[in-house]
Amino acid sequence: MHDRPTPSSLAALTSHSRCSRYERGGGRCYRPTQRADGWCGTCAGFRRPQKPIAPADPCPAAPSARELVTAATDRLPLASDEAHDPQLGVTRSAIERYCAAHGGDRATAEAEIRSLLENLIATGTHQRVEGGAWRMLAREGFSLLLSPDAACVLGYGTAHRDRTYAQVKAGVPSRSRSRRRTDKGWVLALQDGLPVRFTTLVLRRFAQDVLRTEFTRSTGKKVVEAAYSRSTHVRPDLPSNHAGRRRATDEDGLRWHFAYEPGERPAVIHLSWEPGCGPQAPAQEGGS
Ligand SMILES: [Zn+2]
Repeated sequence: MHDRPTPSSLAALTSHSRCSRYERGGGRCYRPTQRADGWCGTCAGFRRPQKPIAPADPCPAAPSARELVTAATDRLPLASDEAHDPQLGVTRSAIERYCAAHGGDRATAEAEIRSLLENLIATGTHQRVEGGAWRMLAREGFSLLLSPDAACVLGYGTAHRDRTYAQVKAGVPSRSRSRRRTDKGWVLALQDGLPVRFTTLVLRRFAQDVLRTEFTRSTGKKVVEAAYSRSTHVRPDLPSNHAGRRRATDEDGLRWHFAYEPGERPAVIHLSWEPGCGPQAPAQEGGS
């Protein structure tokens, strides 16, 4: 099934292989590793010292949530280990998309797409979409598109700009959320245990527009409680893939902008008002 390693290739593996990945802070790892993917599995495992600055261009053949599912119960007619069969093709655009998202070379990208497919065949969601193509989804925010005859991986899609499936599965936290780092500790602490998270800007806006007060350490607890209780009035539909943005408007015309990321609680990242609503709106009779 797999090439048998020669004694010399084994010796090279055991004595010389060093992890080539990077820690969160950008330092090279160099721990010894015998894993095929070259990752030691102990460090954060990033292929680039820094997170990418620009978002990766979408792959033309990337699976799209807009393609209509025609048969949600069909299973891709491949066994898990057939993901590594050389007869199964992986298109250039899928590989390029993978490299753009995660770094690394083409050979590595292809190997990792195949091992993602292996996992998706076993544990993912299989969907037959319009035109007969196959969409394979991982709850963690990764997807593959395969040709109708299951002979070729046409596209790769991910909600993650930086981390691979292996990293997300291993629980490596994202480097992409600068927002979290700019929110002060006390603001985060106020929201411990809540099923949603609010950015500081959102809390400030909510305090000003709705409570007509300032968001400070002394009003913070009250503001968070009021924002949370009001946010439960809106119930946006969860995005497929558990990743993306949703907007929902409550009964007073306040628009709640939610951001979803797999494995994270939803975050309210912006508040706005429907035209004619909110503090800028003409005062209503008897209004407070
Ligand atoms: Zn390492």
